Amino acid sequence: MSQMPVVTRFAPSPTGYLHIGGARTALFNWLYARGRGGKFLLRIEDTDRERSTPEATEAILKGLTWLGLDWDGEPISQFDRADRHAEVAHQLLSEGKAYKCFATQEEIEAFREAARADGRSTLYRSPWRDADPATHPDAPFVVRVKAPLEGETIIHDQVQGDVRIRNDQLDDMVLLRSDGTPTYMLAVVVDDHDMGITHVIRGDDHLNNAARQMLVYTALGWNVPIWAHIPLIHGPDGKKLSKRHGALGVEEYQLMGYPAAAMRNYLARLGWSHGDDEFFTDSQAQEWFDLKGIGKSPARLDFKKLDH
Ligand code: GLU
Repeated sequence: MSQMPVVTRFAPSPTGYLHIGGARTALFNWLYARGRGGKFLLRIEDTDRERSTPEATEAILKGLTWLGLDWDGEPISQFDRADRHAEVAHQLLSEGKAYKCFATQEEIEAFREAARADGRSTLYRSPWRDADPATHPDAPFVVRVKAPLEGETIIHDQVQGDVRIRNDQLDDMVLLRSDGTPTYMLAVVVDDHDMGITHVIRGDDHLNNAARQMLVYTALGWNVPIWAHIPLIHGPDGKKLSKRHGALGVEEYQLMGYPAAAMRNYLARLGWSHGDDEFFTDSQAQEWFDLKGIGKSPARLDFKKLDH
């Protein structure tokens, strides 16, 4: 195992309360860091200004505090780091690893329609990728990363194994929008790098993003973190967990009188196991928790088990 100090993070989008899935992700990251003398950092991904609210941030912090998942340092606001994100995009531009794309939405749509009609891939290929800057119009542009046209991108995932994506299935994704604001995909990579994150442990709904984020790491020549994409939690009926299953915000379990320690124990067992052990102390959980123990299939939530 590598000797580098472990730094993990929980990076919620503050668009609602802390739900069971988020709490479990936070717990796994906390256990992993705490069991190895590492750091557990908190980043609030509040770049979506329309959906992010201070109340949601507060609810998330409160939920984590109740669960006893303490984080190191101050929570970081992703939105506050927009200048740094833009700086990195401009660095890539100056190195020729990204380019200004002047295509309008209508042109992109027309490209896609023509591709559909011809039965070609609708993945947008910008004509501006190799354009001479002397020909650039004085018009709004987005900044796109230059994705490799051949070969494949491999995610060495600690849970899913090697996940391979053909590069011709990845587009030159946008890093900076025409108003100069960074996209989420750029912000995540820059923040994880700057925060020194060594292990990204998160839901497997982000696995596709990992392939695209890899392109940014590669373009920047930055070390790629160790990935662990955890299968999502399902309800007792085997469908993706939602409010329909009666899954509540973490603070509601607090109000219902569940002890935080029981909740931690229960969440730890959702998708992770250590032999046949069902109950463990915090120090046992910290000592035992590892990425190998995370199952490949979705954990099923069954709250009856919490009622011991
Ligand atoms: N903000 C994302 C979410 O709440 C998480 C992104 C990440 O962990 O990389 O789903």
